[in-house]
Amino acid sequence: MTPRIALIAHDKKKDDMVALAREYKDFLLGCKLCATGTTGGRLIDEVGLVVDRKLSGPMGGDLQIGSLLVEGEIDAVIFLRDPMTPQPHEPDINALVRSCDVHNVACATNLSTAHLVLSQLQASAAK
Ligand code: PGA
Repeated sequence: MTPRIALIAHDKKKDDMVALAREYKDFLLGCKLCATGTTGGRLIDEVGLVVDRKLSGPMGGDLQIGSLLVEGEIDAVIFLRDPMTPQPHEPDINALVRSCDVHNVACATNLSTAHLVLSQLQASAAK
């Protein structure tokens, strides 16, 4: 089955997300992707991915992705959070991460875990 992956990065982590997506581009081109607004825009413009762009995170994008997730429409979330900068939509961020735990959906919140999750999904998809 086509992996369905959500991609979100806070502002100071967006360059990391673009670099990560470039690294896994061939795999991600075969996935169904959604992303928060600004992250999605960069992935489309700078990496050439096909992404269902939701609203920007602070405008409710995390909640839109959370809604998909609780409906069973997301297999993994790559959520590069910035732990050093307060975010106006902290409650939305917590809600999304909590929803991943409630529904047992893989949620990578840093680059090391993101590599583990994407390489595992890639290996599973290749079987
Ligand atoms: P953005 O949202 O991709 O629209 O910047 C991410 C976030 O801040 O949660």
